[in-house]
Order: sequence, then C-alpha cells, then structure tokens
Amino acid sequence: MSGLVDVLAVPMVLPSCEQHGQMELQSPGTPEQAYCGTWYRCTRCGSSKLFTSPALQRDLDHAALANVGSAS
Ligand SMILES: [Zn+2]
Repeated sequence: MSGLVDVLAVPMVLPSCEQHGQMELQSPGTPEQAYCGTWYRCTRCGSSKLFTSPALQRDLDHAALANVGSAS
C-alpha cells in the first residue's frame, strides 16, 4: 500500500491541534474524502482539519462565481 498519500497535495505548513499540537496525516477513507483534500487528525482528541484539494477549490470558486452572478 503506497502511493495514496503521494498523490495528495501536502500543505507546506502542517496543521496542529490547538490543545495537543502536531496532527497526523489521515488517509482518506472514501473517494469523497480524497476529493475534498488532505485531512489531518489529532490522535488525542480526534479533531481534524482539512486542506482543500485543488479539485474542490475549483468547484468552490465556481460556486462563488455562480452566486455573484445570480445576485447581480
Ligand atoms: Zn487535540
């Protein structure tokens, strides 16, 4: 099992838990999670953070543009 993490966009600055510090890289459990981006999880309290993937960010940008267009 290798290569799954390699294809993800790893952020330059690793996230940290506000209470416990360093978080662990979490392999996506589903294709949907992999699509959303790279997840980090605190092993002590279970809190997680998401770094948005380019694919999701592109869709979010599209959604934002669509909202602006409909509002004007
Ligand atoms: Zn924590």
